[in-house]
Amino acid sequence: MTGTGVGPVLISLDNVDAGYGNTHVLHDVNFHVHEDQFTGIVGPSGAGKTTLLRLLLGTLDASGGTITRSPKMATAYVPQLETVNWDFPITVFECVLMSRTQGRVLPWASKTEKAEVHSVLERLGIGDLAERHIRELSGGQQQRMFLARALLRQPQLLLLDEPTSGVDVSTRHDVLHLLADLHEEGMAIVLTTHDLNGMAAHLPHLVCVNGRIIADGSPNEVITPDVLEQTYGARMEVLQHLGMPVVVDSGGPVLVQKNIA
Ligand code: ADP
Repeated sequence: MTGTGVGPVLISLDNVDAGYGNTHVLHDVNFHVHEDQFTGIVGPSGAGKTTLLRLLLGTLDASGGTITRSPKMATAYVPQLETVNWDFPITVFECVLMSRTQGRVLPWASKTEKAEVHSVLERLGIGDLAERHIRELSGGQQQRMFLARALLRQPQLLLLDEPTSGVDVSTRHDVLHLLADLHEEGMAIVLTTHDLNGMAAHLPHLVCVNGRIIADGSPNEVITPDVLEQTYGARMEVLQHLGMPVVVDSGGPVLVQKNIA
């Protein structure tokens, strides 16, 4: 797994500024996503991580600078589970199928489309949950269902917003392994995460964000007390375990979060 991205560029953000109305969130961002990239975006709440994903996805325009996309690139997005309306009366199979049929209602789905859905549900280990209502899933199963929806689009670039928030340790391992497999198969992956030890330290490439890009590189290059202090506004200790950095919150008196507005 390379992950640092040396293949052809899929998206370039050059000197990009972005925000919402008068709220300036990101300033002078230079970020290139390559075909073989596997990157985690880390930073405190409100730092602009989701905003950066929206720029990559194309649902938010830059207010300054340039965004260049590889033509005809397929991108898929896995949202934060908290943002989903789980009361929508739909089964797992229907929810995933609608991603394949672009919202077309069920009776007209072709046999091939249905077979593709079953196959991706099996691959993600939730084939036996196809007829369940989406509300009846655990956090890990919900995450797999959204991954299934994303995979059906056969994306070159997969974007995930906090894919391990609210899931247990074993599901977190499963999600990490699954993403590593997809990356091995050639998919570029960019995700946001709050979880420095459980997620970020296991990724090949990280970008630290707080209103701007503060650092980028391998976990050992960017998970350092100095970079973390610049990113989070708090001093943290970093230990080494099995060649990976482990962040210890030494519990300073106040955790100051930088105001990036
Ligand atoms: P993060 O993902 O790092 O928590 P976000 O990118 O979601 O940060 O948000 C960065 C800032 O932009 C925050 O101050 C947030 O309140 C603001 N923001 C996010 N989305 C919107 C929006 N749709 N409209 C206005 N402000 C927003």
